[in-house]
Amino acid sequence: MDCIFCKIANKEERADIVYEDRKIIAFKDIYPVAPTHILVVPKKHIPSVDHLEPGDKNLIGDLLLITQKIARQLSLAKTGYKLVFNVGRGGGQKIDHLHLHLLGGWGKKLKNKN
Ligand code: AMP
Ligand code: ZN
Repeated sequence: MDCIFCKIANKEERADIVYEDRKIIAFKDIYPVAPTHILVVPKKHIPSVDHLEPGDKNLIGDLLLITQKIARQLSLAKTGYKLVFNVGRGGGQKIDHLHLHLLGGWGKKLKNKN
């Protein structure tokens, strides 16, 4: 299958990997749209959130908890971050292998106005 994220997961294509375990890989987006832009990707080829099945429940739960861990490790949690799943062409999805965009790193911790 000619899928770039499967190739990255199989180490057939290079990527700047920030996290990896048996089921999940996370790497820097090559065209970042935030100071920190990471893609968190299940190694299993699932085309999109719309293709998730009940059997993927643990995998998608792990994906979210690992994203939380990465956000903390990259010091994104203090200032806050965005998580985005694009789903389908109309939803802005260009690569048909499920991935969660982790976006953050804007500015310093917001000061309390009072
Ligand atoms: P989406 O539009 O949600 O499908 O997002 C796909 C993302 O993958 C885009 O933000 C691209 O910049 C990113 N991307 C495409 N090819 C690569 C690659 N080889 N390594 C890292 N990120 C990539
Ligand atoms: Zn794939």
